[in-house]
Amino acid sequence: MADPLLTTAQAMRCPHGGTARAHGSDHPVRVRGTGIVAQTDPSIVIGCDARDADGPCPCVSIRWVTAATRVRMAGLAPLLATSIGLAIRSDGVSAGPITIADEPISVKMI
Ligand SMILES: [Zn+2]
Repeated sequence: MADPLLTTAQAMRCPHGGTARAHGSDHPVRVRGTGIVAQTDPSIVIGCDARDADGPCPCVSIRWVTAATRVRMAGLAPLLATSIGLAIRSDGVSAGPITIADEPISVKMI
């Protein structure tokens, strides 16, 4: 069974409840009207209220660790709903894995 693609419509959360969103670039491939996301596309986190001893250190972006290995989209690796992304704080430190909240869309790769 093929792993479902991650789309720009899927909400994600950092370990502190901040909302993350993947911003697919203008890729020619769409799934049910939503864009798919390449590993190198920017993904942002907003609304994270994480703090440490020095003050606020919110998650601001996602570093994707895994992506599709057998499929390429204009030479780029698309992200899957099973891809692992790490929330990255404003100081560049990883805060742990993000969770993908919405039901993924299953697309069979042929
Ligand atoms: Zn966070």
